[in-house]
Amino acid sequence: MNTDLIFDNTEVAFSLKSDSELERAYFLFKMISIEPLVRIGTAATNFAIKAHLPIEGLIRFTVFDHFCGGVNEDDCLSVVDNMYEKGVSSVLDYSVEGKESEDEFDSAKDKILKIIDFAKEIDAIPIAVFKPTGFGRLSLYEKVSKKEALTEKETKEWQSVINRFDEVCKKSKENDVAILIDSEESWIQDAIDDLVTQMMKKYNTEKPIVYNTFQMYRHDRLAFLLKEHKKAKEGNYFLGYKLVRGAYLEKENDRAKEKGYPSPCCASKALTDENFNKGLNYMIDNLDSMSLFAGTHNEDSSYLLMQMMSDKGLLNNDPRVWFGQLYGMSDHISFNLADKGYNVAKYIPFGPVKDVMPYLIRRAEENTSVAGQTGRELALLKKEKKRRKTL
Ligand SMILES: Cc1cc2nc3c(=O)[nH]c(=O)nc-3n(C[C@H](O)[C@H](O)[C@H](O)COP(=O)(O)OP(=O)(O)OC[C@H]3O[C@@H](n4cnc5c(N)ncnc54)[C@H](O)[C@@H]3O)c2cc1C
Repeated sequence: MNTDLIFDNTEVAFSLKSDSELERAYFLFKMISIEPLVRIGTAATNFAIKAHLPIEGLIRFTVFDHFCGGVNEDDCLSVVDNMYEKGVSSVLDYSVEGKESEDEFDSAKDKILKIIDFAKEIDAIPIAVFKPTGFGRLSLYEKVSKKEALTEKETKEWQSVINRFDEVCKKSKENDVAILIDSEESWIQDAIDDLVTQMMKKYNTEKPIVYNTFQMYRHDRLAFLLKEHKKAKEGNYFLGYKLVRGAYLEKENDRAKEKGYPSPCCASKALTDENFNKGLNYMIDNLDSMSLFAGTHNEDSSYLLMQMMSDKGLLNNDPRVWFGQLYGMSDHISFNLADKGYNVAKYIPFGPVKDVMPYLIRRAEENTSVAGQTGRELALLKKEKKRRKTL
């Protein structure tokens, strides 16, 4: 297969960006490449929001508009349509975080049900997603993960979490829409894994509908994948997995250190990369019983996955393999993959500005010069600006 550096094509990558949008993206990445600025900006923004200072407008027209599709799902539709014209699908991601009440969890669940209905009608939205902590309290997941006894009230609360998962997965099956379940902190993941496995058993009987997420920075995930595969073969159901590297590395390592247990994460970036790529390999070798959504901005892993597909003689658009990136990042991967006919979807986060702040802060931190993504985004934007000027 000829994959030769297709991601270098900035004309395809930024075909949806006007000159002024290109300038704005360049300015934004330049700003968040300055690590102290992100640190100070994050603290100042958190303070300003808590103090009800009028900074929403500023956030809206800078980071928010770059990384989010809008405040509600309807706002996102123009982005969804535009991207689909270039072959890139969308996953509408209700990115409100940090909620604690039953009413808020029910309303998040209703939002996801609405998106699954959207997805049934709109070809550009083939997949839905939700975050477990959108459906229940983090401390409750933690207690269930530790297998601690629940009070009567907590038992009821946990049953409501199960019901929310079930309602959403059932609707996904009825509408034939794949549902991705995000993963978060390792100390709540056991409860989620058990629950998602139950959902897979129930709803993945004909094909993968329900997808769990494996954070491959966890050194135990490859062995877990093999174990889950064995169970699925015995139980006669399909598996769906989103593979990611994992977004909470610092938090995981800090907590492990503070509480004095070994970190669940790989000891180096190279080990995480190796684990992630081995996960891809295993899944590509076993597509008869599982489907893969590779959520990554890593060029090497993306090229490797293309190569693996080619080596197996798979079509670029094999329905069992999806590539995924986040809106506002790595357009050079998404749009160039779509241009070559691969299945690609971008998560489009949406929600009220103040509620998506934790998401935006994670993106800003991930894009500082320290994390190393920004250099690449900046270089590509610069290359495209130059190309357009010389036309
Ligand atoms: C579509 C999509 C969905 C996602 N869903 C989730 C999700 O459900 N849950 C979640 O946690 N994240 C999720 N993420 C984020 C993801 O986990 C990564 O944080 C992000 O994509 C960066 O990793 P990368 O593969 O793009 O590549 P890279 O930029 O090459 O890798 C960066 C990652 O490598 C790992 N890493 C970095 N340094 C070290 C080190 N010293 N030791 C060990 N590991 C290291 C970390 O995981 C870090 O995030 C998602 C990302 C995408 C694109």
